[in-house]
Amino acid sequence: MPVTPRYIIEPQRAVEVIHSTDVLVVGSGPGGLAAALAAARSGVAVTLVERFGCFGGNITVVGVEGFAWYRHEKTVEAGGIGWEFEERAKAMGAAAPESQSLSYELDSEGFKLVADRLVEEAGIHAMLHRQFVAPIMEGDAIIGIIVESKAGREAILAQRVIDATGDADIATRAGAAVFKTPVEDMQAASVMFHLAGVDKSAFMAGVKADPQTYGDWSTGEWKIETSGKEDQMFSPFLSKPFAQAIEQGLIPKHLNTIAGTWGVPHDSGELTYMNLIHLAGCDGTDPDSLTRFEIEGRRQSMLAIEALKRFQPGCETARLRNFGMSIGIRDTRKIDAVYNMTEADARHQGRFEDTIGIYPEFIDGYGVLILPTTGRYMQIPYRSMLPKGVRNLLVAGRAIGGDKIAHAATRNMACCAVAGQGAGVAAALSVKTGAELGGISMPEVQAELQRQGVRIH
Ligand SMILES: Cc1cc2nc3c(=O)[nH]c(=O)nc-3n(C[C@H](O)[C@H](O)[C@H](O)COP(=O)(O)OP(=O)(O)OC[C@H]3O[C@@H](n4cnc5c(N)ncnc54)[C@H](O)[C@@H]3O)c2cc1C
Repeated sequence: MPVTPRYIIEPQRAVEVIHSTDVLVVGSGPGGLAAALAAARSGVAVTLVERFGCFGGNITVVGVEGFAWYRHEKTVEAGGIGWEFEERAKAMGAAAPESQSLSYELDSEGFKLVADRLVEEAGIHAMLHRQFVAPIMEGDAIIGIIVESKAGREAILAQRVIDATGDADIATRAGAAVFKTPVEDMQAASVMFHLAGVDKSAFMAGVKADPQTYGDWSTGEWKIETSGKEDQMFSPFLSKPFAQAIEQGLIPKHLNTIAGTWGVPHDSGELTYMNLIHLAGCDGTDPDSLTRFEIEGRRQSMLAIEALKRFQPGCETARLRNFGMSIGIRDTRKIDAVYNMTEADARHQGRFEDTIGIYPEFIDGYGVLILPTTGRYMQIPYRSMLPKGVRNLLVAGRAIGGDKIAHAATRNMACCAVAGQGAGVAAALSVKTGAELGGISMPEVQAELQRQGVRIH
């Protein structure tokens, strides 16, 4: 019998350089999209590479619509491009009032058009359908990337690269130091879905008859630490239909993890952003794990829908409208940055000389929920996006440096947009002045961010 070799040696090959740019942003979620827009508005040539056919990352790919559900009367925010996402979505009919806050929920389909428009207006060179696969290095400096697509392997050169892949794909392959959360500690992944055929008034009457609170998050399988002030506040939370379905044998007992939040009930009968399926043990950097949990997540979603049909008023004739294009991943790798943000920064209003924007005291993850109802906020330091060991590279979005509780704040989409805008401005100024990313003038970065409407202090 022939022995199957363990490794194959790929032959060397010439890869065509198809494009070169000043600032190359890879990944177009809230972090990457904000980075690309900010860099372009700072006056350099910007290219945005994305593996899927739309911009928006988790917003459009997964269907995560709750962009600023933390917002209350006293919440203090950075403004900037994150704010613009919401305002443009409202203006383009791609947002609806959110049930638990003073924010608007983004429409995951409509936001594809919003992002297209923003990218076009800023003159960004768009490259969809290309996946980053390898960095092009000159010593310890990244000078471009190799992508793969239907066109095969291609090279793109850049003066500065922003890794906004969410998983720090570029930083990792370029040899920067990264931490990966052990799989047993990772925040659960979710398969997200949207419903059609819901009777909005009956659904809302059911919600009003039995309103749920953030305190209710702790009544079932989860135990959530709050600051106490959250416990009596309304939450669009659903757990009872699934408990009933378990009692009646419709859902197996071990799936007591099915519970969570609903997004917006529309007059058209759609109920969107159903964040109910929580898949522990899914490693978002392992395609075998992703395969298993995509399929498992869809299976659990259908059980959840059946339970809603039977036990949730207004959902009797509900049906699946669509799943997100991909399973949603919350937690994988983070860079070991020049400064890693800490739990103390998130809980006690961290302040930094190199602040690139503020983020309200909103912590959501690893069993903690604190809402920014008091006006407290932290600053985000530029150094948390600066990886160690690789020059010309910044990391924006959910992979910036920080411990678990810091990440429970910085992973949120509006914070990813703050970091992205800071990274974009810094990369652009670094190109313009010739300064290294590690030695850039922070007053100049901060002045440009303020010119772009970001609150940094
Ligand atoms: C189910 C779920 C619910 C959530 N709910 C909320 C919520 O209510 N509110 C909130 O604020 N946050 C929420 N989050 C967290 C939030 O969505 C993410 O932390 C945030 O979107 C991260 O932004 P990002 O820009 O870093 O990455 P992403 O949004 O993940 O975007 C990364 C982009 O990079 C692309 N990409 C990745 N790898 C490559 C590659 N190799 N080559 C090319 N392109 C690549 C991806 O296709 C994607 O478009 C939720 C997350 C999940 C999974």
